[in-house]
Amino acid sequence: MARKSQFRIDLHVHSKYSGESLAEPKEIIECALEKGLDGICITEHGSLYVSRPFEELKNKYPLLIFRGVELATDAGHMLVYGVDDEAWDDWGKDRICNAQELIDRVAKLGGIAIPAHPWHISRGAGDQNGLIVSVDDRVANLKNLTAIEVCNGKQAGNPIVHEILGTFAREQSLGAIGGSDAHTPENVGRAFTIFRAPIYTPQHLVNALMSKRYYPQIG
Ligand SMILES: [Zn+2]
Ligand SMILES: [Zn+2]
Repeated sequence: MARKSQFRIDLHVHSKYSGESLAEPKEIIECALEKGLDGICITEHGSLYVSRPFEELKNKYPLLIFRGVELATDAGHMLVYGVDDEAWDDWGKDRICNAQELIDRVAKLGGIAIPAHPWHISRGAGDQNGLIVSVDDRVANLKNLTAIEVCNGKQAGNPIVHEILGTFAREQSLGAIGGSDAHTPENVGRAFTIFRAPIYTPQHLVNALMSKRYYPQIG
């Protein structure tokens, strides 16, 4: 069998375990497969533990299923990848974390923390289709960042947001990821990340994210 050269992974997906979504795990997985994704990462709000039921589904479908978490911080939401349930101990649950402390703690545990949707958008007389878009200053001031979320499915119709964030990532030598931020199954895959390295385990995912050899795409 030919070796796969690209892996398309939606790195930002919510399910019913978030409490803000009604999406059933099975429906999410089926939609991801229909859209031709190779994998998804479940990133529930506030708790890594709540998505543990996805572990049982990992071997039942031809789809890579990873689990991370999306935490509220003093620099906006951040996505956490590659941390182990036990070592993580559901850290940051139901509170606003210090973003720098989070980045450093995740790195110590061998994972990676990435700011989610780190932009500020207002409507006005700007020349960007009436949108005034800027990078969230709180994120611009963080140290030891590896990547930011440049494409988020909720802004799929506003390419200017992705352009501004993509330019910022290039200028700062940061990786640029994409994720749908789907709260319903049909939105899974509206944005995703294309990796040029084989990814089959959480460790592969972290290594690939560190390598910055990937790019975000709107689906
Ligand atoms: Zn968020
Ligand atoms: Zn989200």
